[in-house]
Amino acid sequence: MARLDYSTQWIDEEDVAGVVEVLKSPYLTQGKKVEEFEKALCAYTGAKYAITFNSATSALFGAYTVCGICEADEIITTPISFVATSNMFVALGANPIWCDVKLDGNIDEKQIQKLITPKTKAIVVVDFGGKPVAMEQIEAIAKQHNLLLIDDASHALGSSIDGKKIGSFGDMSIFSFHAIKPITTSEGGAVMTNNEEYAKQLRLIRSHGMVKKELWNSDMVSLGHNFRMTEVAASLGVTQMKKLDSFIQIRNEIAFYYEERFKNEKLFLTQKIASNQISSRHLYPIILNPELQCKKEDIFKELQASGLGVQVHYKPIYQNSFYKNKFGEVSLFVANDFYRSEISLPCHQQMSLEDAKFVADTFLQIIQKYNYRGCSF
Ligand SMILES: *Cc1c(COP(=O)(O)O)cnc(C)c1O
Repeated sequence: MARLDYSTQWIDEEDVAGVVEVLKSPYLTQGKKVEEFEKALCAYTGAKYAITFNSATSALFGAYTVCGICEADEIITTPISFVATSNMFVALGANPIWCDVKLDGNIDEKQIQKLITPKTKAIVVVDFGGKPVAMEQIEAIAKQHNLLLIDDASHALGSSIDGKKIGSFGDMSIFSFHAIKPITTSEGGAVMTNNEEYAKQLRLIRSHGMVKKELWNSDMVSLGHNFRMTEVAASLGVTQMKKLDSFIQIRNEIAFYYEERFKNEKLFLTQKIASNQISSRHLYPIILNPELQCKKEDIFKELQASGLGVQVHYKPIYQNSFYKNKFGEVSLFVANDFYRSEISLPCHQQMSLEDAKFVADTFLQIIQKYNYRGCSF
């Protein structure tokens, strides 16, 4: 049922041919494809340096490490994300300070300031579903308080604000190339930065902290890992980058179609993208009205039974038992509400407008049935 999953990859003959070529070449890893992919990422986003990793999770770990996040630092971040966003700084001993979100799923920039303490080290944001966060305001807060700004842009390769691409804001940005992200290398990630020192440290941490000397001699200068992207994966990155804009165009056409179909609906909200922004439309989230929240399980089941590969993004990270056990109970009003209300509809580059029509028809038909069976308060 990949066709109507909430997201899926697009692999064509060009991708396959590239991979086959690498497989027949002498270098399966540590060759020239990684460099070529990194150059393409820089050219596309306008960031000075791209350092690829074998996943966004390891890229996040690298980014958090090289900017000096450590024990007892406080990191202001969003709970509406995949767990890796916070897991990787928790792995370094830092503490999450959860900031509530807005109904578009993005961190509420107006609530950041009051969470800042002398221990605050960084603000970590996520462009939810591909919609850019309020970068201008958040960059100003980070600058004013001398905080690092890191963008987990795993959803947002191809998104932009006033023509400036996501990946070029803040101190570092992280992309994911997991199978269902805006482009894929099967598994993979990258850190984008303009900071030369970070770039140097990131290259070290992804490959054992070793530098080549002369002949057989090398020196391990810092503690590193093996977080390298393979040549096979990087080849996919190179050929997928060529198609990125067409993917984004198709996802936006589907999203615009949904907007048209849903514009008079009173039973749910959709995520609005401002006219000066482009979203990668990695997700197409809809937010049920409160009176339908108690029916979400039934609605979800019915949607799936009708062939729609819907999903929910995300359970607030603080509601996971690891976080509850380690940091105690947290409850943020909008984030909790968002989780009770959100459903991601299928929106990806393998879909036709006919598919989108089927999704919209099916969704509207199912949701109407629950209109008069709402929850009581
Ligand atoms: C997918 C995702 C990750 C993890 O990416 P991987 O490449 O699978 O490690 C991290 N953060 C967010 C917001 C994601 O959506």
